[in-house]
Amino acid sequence: MESRLINDLKKIVGEQNILTSKEDLLCYAYDATPGFSHMPEAVVSPADTDEVSRVLILANNEKIPVYPRGSGTNLSAGTVPTKGGIVLLMTRFNKIIEVDDANLVAIAEPGVIVAELNKAVEEFGLIYPPDPGTVTTATLGGTVSENAGGLRGLKYGVSKHYVMGLEVVLADGSILKTGGKNVKDVAGYDLTKLFTGAEGTLGVITRIIVKLVPAPEAKKSMMAIFSNLDNAGKAIAAIIASKVIPATLEILDNATIRTVEDYAKVGLPIEAEAVLLIEVDGIPEVVEKEAAKVTEVLKANHADKIQVAQDAAERDKIWAARRAALPALAKLRPTTFTEDATVPRSKVPDMIRAVNQAAAKYNVTIGTFGHAGDGNLHPTIVCDLRDKAEMERVYQAMDEIFTTAIRLGGTLSGEHGIGLGKLKYMEDQFGAVGIRTMRTIKKALDPNCILNPGKLVGEC
Ligand SMILES: Cc1cc2nc3c(=O)[nH]c(=O)nc-3n(C[C@H](O)[C@H](O)[C@H](O)COP(=O)(O)OP(=O)(O)OC[C@H]3O[C@@H](n4cnc5c(N)ncnc54)[C@H](O)[C@@H]3O)c2cc1C
Repeated sequence: MESRLINDLKKIVGEQNILTSKEDLLCYAYDATPGFSHMPEAVVSPADTDEVSRVLILANNEKIPVYPRGSGTNLSAGTVPTKGGIVLLMTRFNKIIEVDDANLVAIAEPGVIVAELNKAVEEFGLIYPPDPGTVTTATLGGTVSENAGGLRGLKYGVSKHYVMGLEVVLADGSILKTGGKNVKDVAGYDLTKLFTGAEGTLGVITRIIVKLVPAPEAKKSMMAIFSNLDNAGKAIAAIIASKVIPATLEILDNATIRTVEDYAKVGLPIEAEAVLLIEVDGIPEVVEKEAAKVTEVLKANHADKIQVAQDAAERDKIWAARRAALPALAKLRPTTFTEDATVPRSKVPDMIRAVNQAAAKYNVTIGTFGHAGDGNLHPTIVCDLRDKAEMERVYQAMDEIFTTAIRLGGTLSGEHGIGLGKLKYMEDQFGAVGIRTMRTIKKALDPNCILNPGKLVGEC
C-alpha cells in the first residue's frame, strides 16, 4: 500500500492504531480456518463509528479491500485478507453501553466478548443465549456477522433470533441505523436480518441491540448410550415429538466416542454407535417432568444405558465427554477441519452414515459430533495440510459431505457461515436466481466490492 495511504490512515486512527510491519501483518494473515492465508497490507484499529466511516470513505475512493475482524475464530476463512488491503480490527469497540432489564435488551459494541456480555447481564437474572464453543474469545460483532449458534441452539436458536437492531457503516462511509428496542417492529425491509450473518460483506457493524431472556432456574443433564445408530436417531425425533424441547441435544458418533475415551477416559463404551447428551432447563417442576419424559423416550427407543446427573459434579462429568470431542480429535493429526453440515433432524443417522462412507471411500479420518437436536453436525476431518495427496482426498470427502447434506434437504451451514470454503456449493443450495439476488444486494450496497471481497457470494 502506498505510504501516502498509510499516512492518511494514521491521521484517522492515530499512529499507534495501525500495524504495518511484516511480523505484525503475519498475525492477521489467517484465522481459525485451515488452508487459507494471505498477508494484509495494514491492520487498522478504529475507536469509534466516525473513524470506521472515514476509513471506509478512503478505502472506497481508493478501491482498497477491507476485512472486518473480531477475534478471528471463524471457521470459514471470513477474516483472511485474500486480496491484501486492510484488516479492520474491531476489538477496541469493547463497551457494553446499556443493560435495559425492563425491556430485556442490551446494547453493546461489536468488540465485546460474548462471555463478558453474559457476565454483565447475569446479575439481572438474564442470559444472551448464543453460546459458540469460543464464547470466551469470540466477539459479539463476529458472532452476529457469522450468525453463530452453539450448544443450546435447539431451544434458543442462533444469533439472528436475538439481534433487534444495528448500527452499520456502509462501504461508502454512510451510517445506517436499523431496528431498536421494540418487541414488535415490522416497518420496512428487515435490514437488521440482512446485515446479521452477512459475514462482513455488506457493512461494518459498530453497535448491536440484542434481546435477552430470563436465565433458566434449573437444569437437568443426562447421557444415553446406544449400540445402534438408528435407535439414537429415532430417539432424537421421538424426544421432540414428545413435545419436550431440550436446551441441548448432542450426539457423538463411534469414531468420536473412541477418540474421546482414549483421550479423556470418561467411561464411554467404545463399541457404542452413538452417545446422546441431553439437557433440559427451565422452571424446576417443568425440568423434573421433562427429564422424566426424556428418560421414558430414551428407554422406549432402546438406549442401552441412561445416566441422569443428580448434582453439579455429575452434570460436569456428562458434559466432559462433549467438551473433549474437538480437542481429542484435533490431537490425532496436525490439521483439523470442523465442518458444519446440517440436515433435518430426522436425517441425522443418514448423514452420519454418509460421512462414515466418505471417510472409508477416501481413506480419511472423520469423527462426527454435534447438535443432533437441530440436525447441525460437525464432521471433523483430521489430516495434514502438508500432505498434498491426502488433502486431495480430504477435499473430495468434503464435496461428498456437503452435496449429501443438500440432497438430504439440509443446508451448507447451521452456524459457521460460508466465507470461502463452502462458496463452491452455494449455487447447489440457492440456485442461479438465489445467487443472482444475493450478488445484486452486494453490488447495490458495495459497488466497488471492497468489503470482504470474494466471500459469501464470490466475485462481484
Ligand atoms: C474451537 C472452535 C469452536 C467453535 N464453536 C462454535 C460453535 O459452537 N458455534 C458457532 O456458531 N461457531 C463456533 N465456532 C466458530 C467461531 O467461533 C464463530 O464463527 C464466531 O462467531 C466468530 O467470532 P469472532 O469474533 O472470532 O469473529 P471473526 O472470526 O473475527 O469474524 C467472523 C466474521 O464476521 C465478520 N465480522 C467481524 N466483526 C465484524 C463487524 N464488526 N462488522 C461486520 N463484520 C464483522 C468478519 O469479517 C468475518 O467474516 C468455533 C470456532 C472454533 C475455533
